[in-house]
Amino acid sequence: MPEAPPATTTRRTPPGRRVIVGVITAGLIALAFFGLMPALADYPDVWRAIQGVSVFSLLVAAAAAVLNQLLGPLPTMAVIPQLRFGHALSARLASTTAANTIPGGGAVGVGLTYVMLGRWGHTGAEIGASVALTGIWNNLVRMLLPTGALLAAALSGIEMPSLVDGALIGVMSLGVASIAMVIVLRSTLKDRVLRPIDRFVAWVRRLLGKPADPGDSPSQRFLGIIGDAVGTRWQRLMLTTLAYHLSLYAALLAALRAVGVDPGEVHWAEVLAAFSLVRLISAIPITPGALGVIEVGLTGLLASGLTETKAELVAAGVLLFRFLTYAVPTVAGAVVGVARNRSKAKGMRPGRWGEYPAEQLQNAVCFRCRVRGDLRWHLGQFALVDCPQCGQAFMSPRLNHDGRLALYGAAEYFDAGVYRNDGAKGLQRTWAEGRLDLIDHAVDGSPRESLFEVGCAYGMFLEAAQARGYRVAGLEFSPVAAGVASQRLGCTIHVGEVVDLAVSNHDVVAFWDVIEHVPDPKAFLEAAVRLIRPGGIVALSCPRFDSLSARLLRTRWWTLKPHKHIWHFTRADLRRLLTDVGLAEVRMVRNPFVAGNRWRIDSLVLVARKPV
Ligand SMILES: [Zn+2]
Repeated sequence: MPEAPPATTTRRTPPGRRVIVGVITAGLIALAFFGLMPALADYPDVWRAIQGVSVFSLLVAAAAAVLNQLLGPLPTMAVIPQLRFGHALSARLASTTAANTIPGGGAVGVGLTYVMLGRWGHTGAEIGASVALTGIWNNLVRMLLPTGALLAAALSGIEMPSLVDGALIGVMSLGVASIAMVIVLRSTLKDRVLRPIDRFVAWVRRLLGKPADPGDSPSQRFLGIIGDAVGTRWQRLMLTTLAYHLSLYAALLAALRAVGVDPGEVHWAEVLAAFSLVRLISAIPITPGALGVIEVGLTGLLASGLTETKAELVAAGVLLFRFLTYAVPTVAGAVVGVARNRSKAKGMRPGRWGEYPAEQLQNAVCFRCRVRGDLRWHLGQFALVDCPQCGQAFMSPRLNHDGRLALYGAAEYFDAGVYRNDGAKGLQRTWAEGRLDLIDHAVDGSPRESLFEVGCAYGMFLEAAQARGYRVAGLEFSPVAAGVASQRLGCTIHVGEVVDLAVSNHDVVAFWDVIEHVPDPKAFLEAAVRLIRPGGIVALSCPRFDSLSARLLRTRWWTLKPHKHIWHFTRADLRRLLTDVGLAEVRMVRNPFVAGNRWRIDSLVLVARKPV
């Protein structure tokens, strides 16, 4: 199922077996570097050859290696066009480090890719499709390369060592067989693999007593992305994958030339042939990052028939190549991983909410009991307090009207927040559809015609509602965002606050992550309820102060945001608020796997009905 990381990342290997795998892996690598390599070339001589490399030729080889790293994310971006280069590069570096250092690290790398790209808002279906497609294309190119090398050799009139010749014929037939297999697989994939997955998912849903998923099945979404990428961007996928492999070859060639392996002794077509063959062998995961396999394979193939002195140069070139394309990226990936964690940890410290002039701050009382709260935490210019009578947690001091207007009025507020990239927009769409599903279930039987959203930002949710046939309208505190939304949707977007709106009779009123921002949630909710007819639906989402992350992280909780989140509700607080304004709870969703609340481990979606 593409919605979850592959089982290989979570399946536990028994500790005993893991130790055996580790010992065998270490043994193979030791055999390669202390047994086979010294038989091909003496290390002291190899080291002397490396020391003789000129700065310029070293820079050329390093540039090819850097280019190779920069080309690495492009195939993934061909599958997910909304993916940003920086995100793709750091996810790739981190997963490469895992694959290069841990036995069976390839699966860990795939898991890391899911986690990192998922955090940036990409869906499981997207990530699964990119992992599957880049994998297939990688292996296609690996199989094409030996054919290309054979062609190159024929064209440049170079005689290949018999070993390479024989291997190439085998490889080509393997390639043809594999392409045939891919074609057969493509036609049976749907019936043999994906249909049973969908049936299984449907069966589990029935077992759990959940209604059938009204949208596309998981495998349909996965297939849709694959079909889109293969159908419209297969050339881009092919070219970027080919460019990646060829830049790696260029780095090998540059490293060999840097240490003084002349074209007269080892022709570029021979380098390509050896490279292709070793690349194909390294597709089989023998050691992490094929450590030892590539060094011995390349040196053995390239040095055959050369004098001992020349063989040492070849070994030096291969080791330089591996230093630039294996060791450096592995360390870089580890550094990127550590740096990301650092900057995240730094971002969680209190005091990162900006500095505000004293005239933009005010003290506040509990909206329900109208009394001042007891101090719980100092948070820079703000403080979290608890109502001594009802226990409601809130900020005091907090930003006053002018302060909030200055904060939300700026266009950067939305651009820097949830709308910062297309990936985040993808998650927004998932939420919109999931929440509309929840609303549709709640309005069962009664007509659903008009929907009003309070705090509609740029109108992404209203757009989804419009697509489902609702007549939509909205309200937005920020004039900038309201202007964008009304232009986009061609409907009325009021600017201001909900308490100023006239009584109306919409079927649904929705406000996503708004109620924790407003100065008086009870007045806000009462005003929102005045916008719907009797029997109408109120739908909202907000952070959950009784979530595990809020309890554990306390002042470091990422959703605390004291400049924006004035009220912090537990489920009990919200239920009391519903009672305060006479609403009946229909459903409260805090499961982070439900589409309407996807990946939101510390938030909930609440649907309630206005009594008839
Ligand atoms: Zn109170």
